[in-house]
Amino acid sequence: MLAFEPTSTFARQLDAQDPLHTFKNDFHFPQHEGRNAIYFCGNSLGLQPKAVANAIQTELNSWQQLAVGGYFGGTNPWLYYQDYCKPTLAKLVGASTQEVTVMNALTVNLHLLMLSFYKPNGKRYKILMEAGAFPSDQYAVETQVRQYGFNPDEAIVEIAPRAGEKTLRTADIIESINTHAEELALVMFAGMNYYTGQLFDMAAITKAGHAAGAMVGFDLAHVTGNVPVQLHGWNVDFAAWCSYKYLNAGPGAVGGVFVHEKHAQNVQLGRLGGWWGNDEKTRFKMEKGFVPKADASGWCMSTSQVMNTVCLKASLEMFEQAGIENLRAKSIRLTAYLQYLLQQLPNLSFEIITPENPDERGAQLSLYFKENGRAIHDAMHAAGIIVDYREPGVIRVAPAPMYCSFEDVYRFYEILKTQF
Ligand SMILES: *Cc1c(COP(=O)(O)O)cnc(C)c1O
Repeated sequence: MLAFEPTSTFARQLDAQDPLHTFKNDFHFPQHEGRNAIYFCGNSLGLQPKAVANAIQTELNSWQQLAVGGYFGGTNPWLYYQDYCKPTLAKLVGASTQEVTVMNALTVNLHLLMLSFYKPNGKRYKILMEAGAFPSDQYAVETQVRQYGFNPDEAIVEIAPRAGEKTLRTADIIESINTHAEELALVMFAGMNYYTGQLFDMAAITKAGHAAGAMVGFDLAHVTGNVPVQLHGWNVDFAAWCSYKYLNAGPGAVGGVFVHEKHAQNVQLGRLGGWWGNDEKTRFKMEKGFVPKADASGWCMSTSQVMNTVCLKASLEMFEQAGIENLRAKSIRLTAYLQYLLQQLPNLSFEIITPENPDERGAQLSLYFKENGRAIHDAMHAAGIIVDYREPGVIRVAPAPMYCSFEDVYRFYEILKTQF
């Protein structure tokens, strides 16, 4: 383990050794007093890749010049538009290209996948999730169980950290799954908690969920593009994520889904259908009888959302070049350096509630301030540091490895050291 130093010279040395350093130049940064702001908010909205303007123009040109012909002609025929994202997404989440697709948006996709994978049956009707899950996930699960006539207080099992602790222990998650084994229909967890930045042991959760006889799905909003995962190998049943956080695909970008091939190939599996989930060969015959594609695209419904997917397509080309394993290796160092520097700030009183073990976190560190969290966040903002604040008391600091440098982390520390 390399010994870190709290100096700008040292930070610049780390940048000089970083093979991904030049990707920074391929993004637009918000400006603060004539220079790039320090942007540690890619866990909320990733920066705009410079390549997206041209990518959008390409599709505008197809529409302008070919109109409806753009579905079959032009640079990227729209008929297959979702397919262009699959190879890189498959690498990011550890899946085959048949197991992933893009469609709709995250919460919508959670609902659609729960329609297929949450099948309450007799006393097996409960959904187990983490307490303090992202609100949209809570609402989604609550309204799903209500839809079947259950009382959310009975049908939803929430696992909370132990008294005095801020994160969950894997052993407690597994114990809870075992305790409720006979009643669980679904284990629906975040891959990473948005508030604490804790990365869960998805392999262990999946194994325990299956041993209990339940389906297991993950919300990977904070994982995809941040930490590589092995959804196929871990035998995860399904997953969904958004593309505007670490994937840098812009506000409201198309969402991504994973369906394990053992389910994706089963065209009998219940779902809500639409023509884009039907084989292209028969799609335009306009006949009766929905025959889903035997892969994850069998869950697609509507015409490919080209304008909503184009930025993701452009951004994924950068992930393809950088390589998720390289990004992760840099991210582990970058976040470790951030943690090291934060520990050299005697005048600011906070606790890092994100786990210290790199296997249990991604890029984000969550700083918990007993008091003044909001005011300290606002002062950081005024000093050109873009981070965010989440009640109660947490400033989330997430140096995305694609476009954040060790020098950014050092500047962040220097501002905190001099101003607080
Ligand atoms: C960001 C995020 C969402 C947002 O869902 P949308 O449907 O894209 O608005 C949902 N769940 C989690 C865990 C998130 O981090």
